[in-house]
Amino acid sequence: MNVDYREIGLKVGLEIHQQLATREKLFCSCRPELFKCEPEITFLRRLRPTQSELGQVDPAAYFEFQKGVRILYEADTETSCLVEMDEEPPHDLNNEALETALMVALMMGAKPVDEIYVMRKIVIDGSNTTGFQRTCVVALNGSITVDGKEIPIEHVSLEEDAARKIGEEGLTVIYRIDRLGIPLIEVATGPVINSPGEAEKVALAIGKILRATKRVRRGIGTIRQDLNISIRDGALVEIKGVQELELISKVVEYEVQRQLNLLKMRDELRRRGLREEDIREDFIDVTPVFRGTKCRVLRNAINRGEIILAVKLPKFAGLLGSELIPGLRFGGELADRAKFWGRVGGIIHTDEIKSYGVTDEEVAELRRMVNAAEEDAIVLVAGGAENARDALRAVVERAREALRGVPEETRAANPDGTTRYMRPRPGAARMYPETDIPPVKVTKEFIERVRAQLPRPLEERVRELIKSYNINEKLARQLLDTEYDDLFEVIVKETGVTPTVVATVLTETLKALKRDGFNVNALTDEQIIETFRLVGQEKTTKEAIPEILKWLTTHEGADPMDAVKELGLMMMPEEELHKIVEEYVSRNNALITEKGLGAFGALMGAIMRELRGRVKPDVVSRILKEKISEKIASK
Ligand SMILES: [Zn+2]
Repeated sequence: MNVDYREIGLKVGLEIHQQLATREKLFCSCRPELFKCEPEITFLRRLRPTQSELGQVDPAAYFEFQKGVRILYEADTETSCLVEMDEEPPHDLNNEALETALMVALMMGAKPVDEIYVMRKIVIDGSNTTGFQRTCVVALNGSITVDGKEIPIEHVSLEEDAARKIGEEGLTVIYRIDRLGIPLIEVATGPVINSPGEAEKVALAIGKILRATKRVRRGIGTIRQDLNISIRDGALVEIKGVQELELISKVVEYEVQRQLNLLKMRDELRRRGLREEDIREDFIDVTPVFRGTKCRVLRNAINRGEIILAVKLPKFAGLLGSELIPGLRFGGELADRAKFWGRVGGIIHTDEIKSYGVTDEEVAELRRMVNAAEEDAIVLVAGGAENARDALRAVVERAREALRGVPEETRAANPDGTTRYMRPRPGAARMYPETDIPPVKVTKEFIERVRAQLPRPLEERVRELIKSYNINEKLARQLLDTEYDDLFEVIVKETGVTPTVVATVLTETLKALKRDGFNVNALTDEQIIETFRLVGQEKTTKEAIPEILKWLTTHEGADPMDAVKELGLMMMPEEELHKIVEEYVSRNNALITEKGLGAFGALMGAIMRELRGRVKPDVVSRILKEKISEKIASK
């Protein structure tokens, strides 16, 4: 789809959440890590609707509370304590996290607040044992420049990360609380971004500043982006949980496409003369139509004792099957709502009912029972009576919204850049003060101490690397760009390998391996350091490094020495090398007689082809020259 993003009035704001690499969690001393083994502790809680100060109840939370949704929390004792279990008040705000947040704030020119107040932000899905997430604003009103445009940074905040959802069984939702309380920094931009590409560039620029502190976590799941996207005439839609920066432009493109298509659908429905009051909550039990059906989904439901409930969507024929974005049809939006509010498996609608193995006779009977004409669509759900009714109510609500255009809602990002319905957009007044934590004064001295620790400007670092290590500017910039500059300095210091060799491997070699499909992210710093150490100790050669690294990417946690042995890349002892060179020289007696020292090139090439990775080229060259000269002299 070719879209003029300015013409349609696209506005995007970003909220970037990044886990900080602190020693402890934000409000207790637990290790900020995830556990991989079986949980040591489990406990069950009922979901409770949390009331804000104004007495407003979040409708989605209240709804789930009414349905009796329960949460099963899993924990272990190293990554969580009584604080995460909400059995003990939070401890003081983690100072290390506060320092990092201030650092980021200063790098973005934001103004630190005088005093930090921890607030409670209502969360409704059980992802916090308390029913709220603790958050505090650290600084306000900064800005960054991206491609010459000033992007306002509205605030820099600290937050506790939420528990992670493991699964769902009936009315029980399972969460692990290891992630709960890991410090997150939140950076929010103003809604001034006007194109998908710009959104991605801004996110990359923010990510770069965060990482420049060297105090953030790395790897998948440690950074999450939320996007607020709107177009003129559309609606503000919040998309949560984009995990990869590279996905952002796609998410924006798709959301624009979705909103434009919903607007087209609205116009079409109006053209067809539909009014909101025509869409009615008349639900009809059509189970009898499908008693003998060959449709597996419906037959299984009936066998489970569920009912099939139907609702007519007047004048919607053909629209439920129309695609909004790849893989998402309007029917899918109805299904998302039905699943969320009715806890049913999904819906079946007349635009696609044939593909479920429903016969023409059954469709005709269905249309007769719900009094639907050809221009009308029918939506079916299977479930318990109450769930089915809840599901269809949500379907009717969504159908009515279609006449108004784009509904405001919170959506979740899928790994392919598409999105799915998550919940209605929470209203205002979701915050109230955390009374268990005293306000923290941000003194001038504290700010100056942090300012003194700010990472140096990029250009300064480039000059410093060139000067200290005698590497060229291109390599210096690449090192800083890949953020391997720290590792580079460690390796040079610890292994004695030439800086240019180290820099080239960390930039160009790793990039080439990645391009060839090797998972270089699987390499640990320790493995990389050890590989260079083997080169420094002359156990192997620098030419062998790419092969060793390739091998390590497919042998998780293995020792580089194992790679060297496995691949036969041990450095050859010099006596052995002498013998081999001598053999080459005597085998090529004729050539040497003819060309003298001119035979060197051909012989050198042949020997290196045989011994590459096991010998140093300069040593081979030296020995070969000696032997050829001896040979010539002996004639
Ligand atoms: Zn704890």
